[in-house]
Amino acid sequence: MTKRLSILLATPRGFCAGVDRAIQIVEKAIEKWKPPIYVRHEIVHNKHVVADLQRKGAVFVEELDDCPDDRPVIFSAHGVPKNVFKEASRRNMMFVDATCPLVVKVHVEAKRLFQEDKEILLIGHANHPEVVGTLGQLPDGAIHLIETVKDAENYLPEKQDNLAIVTQTTLSVDDTALIIETLKKRFPSITLPHKEDICYATTNRQAAVKSIAARTDLFFVLGTENSSNSQRLAEVAKKAGAREALLINDVTHIEWESFKTVNTLGLTAGASAPESLLQEVIEECKSRFLVTVEESETIIENMTFKLPHSLESVVS
Ligand code: SF4
Repeated sequence: MTKRLSILLATPRGFCAGVDRAIQIVEKAIEKWKPPIYVRHEIVHNKHVVADLQRKGAVFVEELDDCPDDRPVIFSAHGVPKNVFKEASRRNMMFVDATCPLVVKVHVEAKRLFQEDKEILLIGHANHPEVVGTLGQLPDGAIHLIETVKDAENYLPEKQDNLAIVTQTTLSVDDTALIIETLKKRFPSITLPHKEDICYATTNRQAAVKSIAARTDLFFVLGTENSSNSQRLAEVAKKAGAREALLINDVTHIEWESFKTVNTLGLTAGASAPESLLQEVIEECKSRFLVTVEESETIIENMTFKLPHSLESVVS
């Protein structure tokens, strides 16, 4: 007899407004200026998105040095240090900034705090491009990175009564709350972000996973290894009660042997993972099991971001 499998779908999931905008920027730039269009760093952290844009004519590089002066270059959704803009201007390059507006908001906030002479603590993960970009908005040493509760416990400030916090946008909501709580206890006058810097998409996707994780035997998060928000979703699923939670690139990464003990599968996709990848998993499950699908929607999203002026009128 065919095995039954119940699939619980977390909603919202998948592309956020910042990722959608960044991909559109690359597609429209290819349409307007023709290939090759250079993109500094993966436009968003997803191998399938990157491969698809490569097929269309995008060339991904890690540094501006790898781009010729006479072709347009796009800066990824994660944001870039200020010196990258300066260097592109110095070389008279044509560039389009695909930094997510919610990352720009954190940059603006950090600059304002710096002008107010605050000692700025950035909660985030070392070497993540968004963190590199945020640190690079201000002179070296102006922002101090806090990665863990332990860092928060051990931090020795210079301006004990003049501290302020900003955060990476794609962190675990719960882990960040613990770090902020630790800092608040040690430094009661610390200035907190006006509103949570963790973006709406990260918050909503984690809440949706939390609402169903405890009912699942296995939770798949569609997403790529280097995607911070996707990694966090797998962690949240595990902490919220999923027996096992795994980040998978696509359907080919599934080890079907493990389904012997799985009756309920949770599914979501990181903010940079296309919905088609998740649908392929559902289709493959349907070909192997007697499947029922239940969708659990915790909030309706309607966020969109405007394209840069130079690409607004391009029809692709
Ligand atoms: Fe912007 Fe959040 Fe999406 Fe990152 S995850 S691109 S900050 S909306």
